[in-house]
Amino acid sequence: MRASLDGLSLHPAKSQWVELWNGKQALGWDYYGTPVFRFRWAPAGLATRRQLRAMRMSPGGHEPYALLVWRKGKRWAWLYRLDLAKPCRVPSPAQLNALDKAMEARRRCQLCRTVTDYCIPTSDGRCHACMKSPVPA
Ligand SMILES: [Zn+2]
Repeated sequence: MRASLDGLSLHPAKSQWVELWNGKQALGWDYYGTPVFRFRWAPAGLATRRQLRAMRMSPGGHEPYALLVWRKGKRWAWLYRLDLAKPCRVPSPAQLNALDKAMEARRRCQLCRTVTDYCIPTSDGRCHACMKSPVPA
């Protein structure tokens, strides 16, 4: 059970060695069964959601493993196990296809129907060649 900790101050307790999932130990303390680590003291192999996102990873449906606290416990974030994290969902072929079609529509000249290799301004809708050449009557 993970209670909401919003607005809660996690006052740093006396640091002690906390046994980790991988058998290693790290200095932190226990908060109702959840290990808590000070900023810069968090053991390797754990990352915040923000750090995961920067690595194009997601918690993969796993509960956070520990808490990271800083600013004397006024700020905190969940820590997730990197070994359980999953790569962010990549678009399916169908989604890519739809994206391709949308991109192609953006690159198709409204006048000569040519698909260009650049995006045509939506305000005009004509390819560069058509813009340059006199508009046929
Ligand atoms: Zn054109």
